Amino acid sequence: VVTEKPQRAETTAAGTGVKISHPDRVIFPDAGITKSELADYYAAVAGILLPWAANRPVSLVRCPQGRSKQCFFQKHDAGSFGDAVHHVDIEEKDGKTEPYLYIDDIRGLLTCVQMGTIEFHGWGSLVADVEKPDRMVFDLDPDEGLDFGDVKKAAEDLKQHLADMGLASFAMLSGGKGVHVVVPLAPQAEWPDVKSFAERFSRALAQAEPDRFTATMSKAKRKGRIFIDWLRNQRGATAVLPYVARARESAPVAAPVSWTELKDIDTPKRFTVKEADTLIERANSRGLAGWGVAEQVLPDI
Ligand code: ATP
Ligand code: MN
Ligand code: MN
Repeated sequence: VVTEKPQRAETTAAGTGVKISHPDRVIFPDAGITKSELADYYAAVAGILLPWAANRPVSLVRCPQGRSKQCFFQKHDAGSFGDAVHHVDIEEKDGKTEPYLYIDDIRGLLTCVQMGTIEFHGWGSLVADVEKPDRMVFDLDPDEGLDFGDVKKAAEDLKQHLADMGLASFAMLSGGKGVHVVVPLAPQAEWPDVKSFAERFSRALAQAEPDRFTATMSKAKRKGRIFIDWLRNQRGATAVLPYVARARESAPVAAPVSWTELKDIDTPKRFTVKEADTLIERANSRGLAGWGVAEQVLPDI
């Protein structure tokens, strides 16, 4: 007779005091990862994740019953998160003000996990000054059929073109299908200027190499190409944050990588929730020292 292990009613995420209900609920069926294991992952990587995720408006991908059941993308504070998850009022296009979520510590992070969050996506600006982005993200989305080598080459090319304009950039495996090229900015220019720069930069690349790139979202135009998704760089858009778990098969995480090591990586799902120790060690290694950090402003183009 196979007897199932009795399910615990509740546990506490390591060292945080945040209560995790249904700790034995399986969130990633294929990888066999439970809610308490996901909470332990986030508790472990809090020190390397919070520098990127804290104090900026975030949207959450919540899958309360696990990643293979219904998930939803939550942008606004529904008021049910308690006092560790904060809200900031932001005026939307229609003039209405909506409360957006943000966290600033490990308790907030784990409270979101307790509420069924798998993914954290962030605005490109901080709560302190939401109108002035502190980073730009080029999200490289390959058409089906392209291999990761094509994506890596595209990322390298973007890096080179950005460097030609004096901008340092950094690579992050999305944990999905692509790579994000991240350009840190001193919060100076406002959204319309950053969006305009990102769009013109992307369109110029697509125009120069129309066989490889498109800057148009349409799937039809993507045929055999890589979509340089510059639309992450408009007010209100979000992008997945470093070290965030993805609600995808095998529990991959969005992982910063150095340009050098990217050459030898063969999948954007290279790192998973099971590798918190590796990710922490890497984050503190020489190869990733200074990842995502540069004091720079947009040049005139
Ligand atoms: P991949 O490498 O597979 O493209 P990704 O993180 O770049 O991974 P998605 O998860 O498909 O891509 O998300 C694309 C962007 O759209 C993300 O940056 C995310 O912040 C945003 N997003 C995701 N889901 C929603 C949603 N339901 N509503 C609005 N925006 C979303
Ligand atoms: Mn993408
Ligand atoms: Mn995209």
